[in-house]
Amino acid sequence: MYFSKHNIFSKIRNSDDYYLVNILTGNADIISNEKAEEIKAGIYSDRDEFIEKGYLIDEKEEKKLYKNKYLEFIENRDKDEIQIFLVPWYACNFGCSYCYQSGYEQKHQSLSKEKTDAFFTYITNEFAGRRKYITVFGGEPLLPSDVTKQSIEYILQQASSRDLDTAFVTNGYALKEYVPILKKYRIREVQVTLDGPEEVHNVRRPLKNGEGTFKQIVEGIDAALEEKININLRVVVDKENINSLVELSKFAVEKGWTNNPFFKTQLGRNYELHYCQASQSRLFTRLEFYEAIYSLIKDNPVVTEFHKPAFSVSRFLFDNGELPFPLFDDCTGCKTEWAFDGTGQIYSCTATVGKPGEELGSYYPAVTRSADIISQWEERDVTTIPECRECSLQLACGGGCASIAKNNKGKLLAPDCRPVKEQLEMGLAHYFYKSL
Ligand code: SF4
Ligand code: SF4
Repeated sequence: MYFSKHNIFSKIRNSDDYYLVNILTGNADIISNEKAEEIKAGIYSDRDEFIEKGYLIDEKEEKKLYKNKYLEFIENRDKDEIQIFLVPWYACNFGCSYCYQSGYEQKHQSLSKEKTDAFFTYITNEFAGRRKYITVFGGEPLLPSDVTKQSIEYILQQASSRDLDTAFVTNGYALKEYVPILKKYRIREVQVTLDGPEEVHNVRRPLKNGEGTFKQIVEGIDAALEEKININLRVVVDKENINSLVELSKFAVEKGWTNNPFFKTQLGRNYELHYCQASQSRLFTRLEFYEAIYSLIKDNPVVTEFHKPAFSVSRFLFDNGELPFPLFDDCTGCKTEWAFDGTGQIYSCTATVGKPGEELGSYYPAVTRSADIISQWEERDVTTIPECRECSLQLACGGGCASIAKNNKGKLLAPDCRPVKEQLEMGLAHYFYKSL
């Protein structure tokens, strides 16, 4: 018997208590300070309970359990729905201060009917028998012109005729104009970005000519919600706008959005992807980001009416009363996610789409596939990344993002570490010790 290598053990923020979480065996406990000191000294006075919960386990038995859960994970993922991103063009009407795609702007092309047909033929053949849906992405997919409206409607017609849902990731500027088109089809959701209250948002996400965009986006969100189209409101957060989340939260509450069943939110950390940020000093590291969110919600509970942060598995545990299934892989690229662009190329996901050298094949004018590189993507998980194999956080972290790992370490089979321990320290304090 040994203290499982999958135990995650640390102190809960602003409390004397500790937590002990084991995602492999599916157990989580709050441990008193006194008992925690015993654990640190290798004394297990609750030995029987610890064995029953798998905190103390026979190494061979643990390996067997790990293998079985891994096989179950792979089997379930093979049945999962595939998210197929389509970037019809890279053109955009915004001049966001932090846009990583600004380096791709040379690729202005619209998606002809011929290419759209080739895309649908490819996904119908390649992903036959798999559940799937399409997410139209950019650049900006919902550009305010007749030509782009026709292209978007043709995509929607083709998707609907194959019983596929379509989602959009848009800056929201012309959303109101598109709602009459969207409402005729099967729309899964529309993700719109609002980076703060009006004065903050307009500085960060203006039109190319510098004009503000807040009012138009808010009108678009209202129009979509009116038609019962799901809105996923995303805020891209960095040091410059984090504090304005309080005002944005109040705005969303006052608008009635937060009580609308068709409305949900996500916070995205602004981070360096492929192109240099104009001002890197405003970016948070992952840990700084969670720390800042934790402090903000502690002092301003209204923010949690707008968004409930996950803090690794903390929120899941709080909402469901149990831990999630072990996460052997957090990167969906080439597994349950693919991306296609208007030039006819195929990529792993949204992080690589359009990046020179990341092409994995083409769907137009001819179908090609780089089988070797695709299998490198497919094989990446916590069992194949050497650092992850030995890491106690692996089943909560899942090895992170392959694209970031490759950018940082020059290869796919490298870790992209998540501050799981610290997130649990904060998240368990927030969800289970709310009064602290
Ligand atoms: S490479 Fe990163 S962005 Fe792409 S699917 Fe994997 S985790 Fe997501
Ligand atoms: S990416 Fe880092 S934190 Fe995550 S499992 Fe691998 S080694 Fe552990």
